[in-house]
Amino acid sequence: QDFSGLGLSSKVTDAVAAAGYTKPTDIQAQAIPHVLEKKDLIGIAQTGTGKTASFVLPMLTLLESGRARARMPRTLILEPTRELAAQVHENFEKYGKNHRLSVALLIGGVSFEEQNKKLDRGADVLIATPGRLLDQFDRGRVLLTGVDILVIDEADRMLDMGFIPDIERIISLLPPRRQTLFFSATMPPEIQKLTARFLRDPVKVEV
Ligand code: AMP
Repeated sequence: QDFSGLGLSSKVTDAVAAAGYTKPTDIQAQAIPHVLEKKDLIGIAQTGTGKTASFVLPMLTLLESGRARARMPRTLILEPTRELAAQVHENFEKYGKNHRLSVALLIGGVSFEEQNKKLDRGADVLIATPGRLLDQFDRGRVLLTGVDILVIDEADRMLDMGFIPDIERIISLLPPRRQTLFFSATMPPEIQKLTARFLRDPVKVEV
């Protein structure tokens, strides 16, 4: 199987080809068609399986219609650490090079000024760590009522780092009608409970 049968746009498959990838990984082949159908998804996968592209590629395709409004990101990706957030940002730059989408990064250690400029102009994608996002929300710099797709990445690490209360608060600020994509390497009971509360009729993919 190659990337052409998954339902991705040609802009995305062109960028994948330019990156030198010819075959989707297991998680990509299994998850991408469901994400494109706007299904909620639980992906049980470790880092190194290609899980980042399994949400980045279909999100790029879905974002090709519509446009962002000031301070109202269209999609939100939550990461437990700055480093992971920065890696996801790089993935959007690599695979989104044929797109004119605005991707904002909201993490500690980056100047507020730079982050806010992007948010003010309107972000198609906001990649954030939970604490920094809530900080900026409480300052009125970002509104979450326009988020169509939420990605919670590395959920078990979020749990280990004590981020679950922050995540619950962030989810309470999002529209209830949205698509939620949930990734975790393991599924401890606390994480299972979260998925039961916040996902609707999810497809489960395990690699
Ligand atoms: P990830 O699990 O998302 O951290 O990705 C692990 C590594 O696999 C990254 O360096 C990607 O660039 C690479 N990768 C992702 N998808 C593919 C693919 N379909 N074929 C080969 N390498 C890939």
